[in-house]
Amino acid sequence: MADKAFDIPFNKPFIVGKELDYIKDAVDRKKISGNGHYSKLCHRFFEERYGYKKCLMTTSCTDALEMSAILADIKEGDEVILPSYTFVSTANAFVLRNAKLVFVDSEPDHPNMDASKIEESITPNTKAIVVVHYAGKACDMDPIMELCAKYNLFLIEDCAQAIDSTYKGKPLGSFGDFSAYSFHETKNVISGEGGLLVVNNEKYLDRSEIIWEKGTNRAAFFRGEVDKYGWVDKGSSFLASELNAAYLYGQLECLELIQNKRIKIVERYRSELSALNQTIFELPVLKDYTVENGHMFYLLFHDLDSRSEFIRYMRAQKIHCVFHYLSLHRSDFFKGYDDVNYDLPYCDQYADTLVRLPVFYELSDEEQEYIIGHIKAFVEK
Ligand SMILES: *Cc1c(COP(=O)(O)O)cnc(C)c1O
Repeated sequence: MADKAFDIPFNKPFIVGKELDYIKDAVDRKKISGNGHYSKLCHRFFEERYGYKKCLMTTSCTDALEMSAILADIKEGDEVILPSYTFVSTANAFVLRNAKLVFVDSEPDHPNMDASKIEESITPNTKAIVVVHYAGKACDMDPIMELCAKYNLFLIEDCAQAIDSTYKGKPLGSFGDFSAYSFHETKNVISGEGGLLVVNNEKYLDRSEIIWEKGTNRAAFFRGEVDKYGWVDKGSSFLASELNAAYLYGQLECLELIQNKRIKIVERYRSELSALNQTIFELPVLKDYTVENGHMFYLLFHDLDSRSEFIRYMRAQKIHCVFHYLSLHRSDFFKGYDDVNYDLPYCDQYADTLVRLPVFYELSDEEQEYIIGHIKAFVEK
C-alpha cells in the first residue's frame, strides 16, 4: 500500500475541457438567460446521441420531474407508482400536484424498483409509473413498458444517474414519455446545478416548451411560428441559464473521456475487491440487460452496524465513503402525508447497508490504490 497520506472526498466537481471559455463566450454573445446558443447545443447533443425527440435544459432534474408531472396532468386523486429507495425529488414532483404516492419495493439483488411487484399496485386511479435507474443501471424495462401499454399509463424515467447507459442496447431516457436528467455536481457530467427534460411522446412536444417558458408561446414566437406571444397555458420558469449550459456543453464535448475514466475507476474497484473474501460485504450485481456507466460503486454490508464501522474506519483514514437514500415511506414527511403502512424490506435493507466509494473524474490511480488498500486492511482486521 502507498504510505503517502491522502484526504479523499466522496466527490469533486471538475473541469475537463472548454467550460470556462464557453462561459466567457456566452457573456460575449450578450445572452446569458435561457434557450440561447449553448442551451441549443446541449439540446441537440442529447437528441442526436440518444435519439430523443425533444430536449429542454432545466435548472435541475427536480424541475424536469416537476415539468413531467405537469405534462402528465397529475392531480389530486391520481396515483403514481415509484420506488421508495430514491431521492426526494422523484416523489416531491408528484406531491406538489397532490398525487397519491404508491411505493414499490426494490429488487432482492438490486436497489432498482422490482418490476414484478408493480402490477399488484395498479388501480383504476393509477396515472403514471416513475422508474429510477439507480447507479445508472437500467430497471427491467420490458415488463414495465408492457404494463404502461396494458393500463395506459405514463412512463417517466428518472435518469439523474443514467447518462450513457442502456437497456438491451437502447439508451435509457428513450423509453419514457418524459425523462429527467441531472447535471448536479455529483453526477457524471455537471453544470453546478442543472437538468434536462426529455420528451419522447409526440403529443407533448409543443406543450413542454410552453410550460418551460412560463406558460407562454415565446419559443415558437422567436422561431417565427406565431405572430405574437402571450400567456397560453400554465407554466413556470424552468429554463437553465446560458452560463450553466455553456459549462455543461464544455463537459459534453468530453463525454467519452469522462465516461472512460469513470468506468475504469469502477471496474478497478470491481476487479480488485472481488478478489477479496466477500464475507463482510457484497459487490453490486450487474445484470446482463444493462451496462456499466461509471456513475457509482457501492458495497453492501450485512447490517447497519458493520456499515457504520466501515464508514468510521475509512473516515479515520481520510477517505469519505457515504451511505445513500433513507426509505421515503419511512420519512417524517410521508408519515404526515399518507397513513398507508408499507412493508418494503429490500428498500429498508439498502437504506441500512449500502455505502458508496469515492468515484470522480480526478481520482488518481494512487488515490484509488490507497482506498482499495484500506478496504483490504478493514477486511483483514
Ligand atoms: C441527483 C438526483 C436527483 C436530483 O437532481 P437535481 O438536479 O439535484 O434536482 C433526482 N433523482 C435522482 C435519482 C438523483 O440521483
